[in-house]
Amino acid sequence: MSLDTLPLVGGPSLAQERRLVTAIPGPRSQELLDRKAVAVASGVGHTVPIQAVAAGGGVVVDADGNSLIDLGSGIAVTSVGNAHPAVVKAVQEQVAAFTHTCFMISPYDSYVAVAEALNRLTPGDHEKKSALFNSGAEAVENAVKIARKFTGRQAVVAFDHAYHGRTNLTMALTAKNMPYKSGFGPFAAEVYRAPLSYPFRDGLSGPDAAAKAISLIEKQVGADNLAAVIIEPIQGEGGFIVPADGFLNAIVDWCRANGVVFIADEVQSGFARTGAMFASELFGIVPDLVTTAKGIAAGLPLAAVTGRADIMDATHTGGLGGTYGGNPIACAAALASIDAFENEGLVERAQQIGELLKGRLRELQKADPRIGDVRGHGAMIAAEFVDPTTGAPDAALTASVAKTAIAEGVIVLTCGTYGNVIRFLPPLTIGDELLNEGLDVVAAALARN
Ligand SMILES: *Cc1c(COP(=O)(O)O)cnc(C)c1O
Repeated sequence: MSLDTLPLVGGPSLAQERRLVTAIPGPRSQELLDRKAVAVASGVGHTVPIQAVAAGGGVVVDADGNSLIDLGSGIAVTSVGNAHPAVVKAVQEQVAAFTHTCFMISPYDSYVAVAEALNRLTPGDHEKKSALFNSGAEAVENAVKIARKFTGRQAVVAFDHAYHGRTNLTMALTAKNMPYKSGFGPFAAEVYRAPLSYPFRDGLSGPDAAAKAISLIEKQVGADNLAAVIIEPIQGEGGFIVPADGFLNAIVDWCRANGVVFIADEVQSGFARTGAMFASELFGIVPDLVTTAKGIAAGLPLAAVTGRADIMDATHTGGLGGTYGGNPIACAAALASIDAFENEGLVERAQQIGELLKGRLRELQKADPRIGDVRGHGAMIAAEFVDPTTGAPDAALTASVAKTAIAEGVIVLTCGTYGNVIRFLPPLTIGDELLNEGLDVVAAALARN
């Protein structure tokens, strides 16, 4: 297939198939990668060596005419599917009307409508307010600013295996040295790290793991100094670690009792991804503040902090904002995406995807003890690879399986502090057939490694 006959329109009308017409990368993709190597800073890596030209449903099409099964959604972003028709229409209409006024200069409807939707959809029926930003890291930075202003305290606690972004404060909050932090210090002060509940590796009950974390916080930080505790209800980059039951609840209770702001970083887990609109719901917790981004606007840059109105309003006017935060095009995409999450059965679809993924991976695990753990909720499922005799993380196997799957036309992403986790984050618009075929390819890749 030549470039001229390629579908340059993506979305659900793209042929939903895995199709390899060249090796990956094909010649056109390789041309782009050669230009990238010359023009783009080498600190910016890539996982899948293709030139993407269209995407939709459950596939990404490259410049050589290959069609890859998408089990990554651009890191949990295109949950409503790439080029979702309603998103395309909303964006096109907004671009034609106006592209920017700066909300802090001349406000517009869509920003307020996104805030209203977030206030309605995030956990808890208390009075809430929102502020919009451009990226997940920026939302996390602002959540910490807001919590510090509200409490008059400075310290922030994050957890082992946490990932909160790549800006200076969020690098400090992020746990993993390589590749996120190495050589980029000094990092922001007054950030402390507590142990996480990691059932596969710590063997602790949720309450016991929480008691351990709380004891460390009390001894090393002191509640009187602590503005906020920030945690991903289900960790993303850290390895899709699902804390044991009762862990998050005990941390929330301790925060409430001590005037500490509890921030749920739902940048990766939010917006139907886990089979609930927000992962906090799965654990029955109501955070004081919630950060969102990734899935919110189908890939347009948008992020938010949403939470208790008294906390959100503690900051002086002008203390929060940014030139582009809540850009009207991104807000238009968010409103169309949120409508899809609510009215196209995507929460239920995420649950079905989770059943399928977990079922298949647990079958694989029975036959292959190198899969140490299968965990997650909804369309946020992971397999952790280990040495079956020692239980030690096997990063080499993980990387090799992922690489083989990609070469066979299936986009899979790895994660985890030890680099030994393959995470499955398909768009919620993927069909069962394609999902099963993607898993067949991963299973074959594992068998060959
Ligand atoms: C991706 C991510 C971030 C950072 O978001 P960016 O938009 O890349 O800045 C923060 N927190 C979590 C949980 C994430 O997964």
